[in-house]
Amino acid sequence: MIQFYVASFVDISKHKELENKLRNLSEKDALSGCWNRRKFDLELRDECSRVNRYPTREQSCLAILDIDHFKGINDRFGHDYGDKAIQTVAQVLQRECRDTDLVARIGGEEFGVILPHTTPQEADYVLNRLRIAISIEFDNVVTISGGITNLTSEPALNYKCADLALYEAKAVGRNSVCLFLDSEMSEIA
Ligand code: GH3
Ligand code: MG
Ligand code: MG
Repeated sequence: MIQFYVASFVDISKHKELENKLRNLSEKDALSGCWNRRKFDLELRDECSRVNRYPTREQSCLAILDIDHFKGINDRFGHDYGDKAIQTVAQVLQRECRDTDLVARIGGEEFGVILPHTTPQEADYVLNRLRIAISIEFDNVVTISGGITNLTSEPALNYKCADLALYEAKAVGRNSVCLFLDSEMSEIA
């Protein structure tokens, strides 16, 4: 026969809070407040496997954005201004992207955006909207260039394609957006 029950109540909300804080620290970029490279790589891999699983109905894109002539901006206005510019660019990108898009700072003055359920044409439209929003925010003192590619099952290939597109955007005069699809890579490989 059961005579006694012993109940034990432990408040785990503080524990959960700490857990969330730690996860945020490991996945967020301290300067810009957006996701960091680690989180970006994980999400890119996940999105690529999603696209790979449903190739006929899933289209997603990857974009890499880079601030134009940032060395010159640091030289002219100082490193603190440069840091502030990175923060503002991050804010504008997050404000202008959809909730389902993932914005990450993946390098010094470089950002990556994963755009799920998005065709390259739609991504081109979104990226140009971001590009224009930034040049307006900074009165044309700070501009960005962007490279877009469609996602496939290979994150490394996608990264290379987006980087080539970004290279082209720089070459055509900066403050612009270019596309480089994976099919174009197989043509030149
Ligand atoms: P491009 O248009 O070809 O991209 O020219 P760029 O000058 O932006 O390119 P480059 O990659 O040569 O220079 C990037 C500069 O960004 C170099 C570095 O001093 C600066 N930078 C990188 N990270 C930070 C940062 O966290 N804060 C500041 N203020 N500057 C940074
Ligand atoms: Mg750069
Ligand atoms: Mg740059």
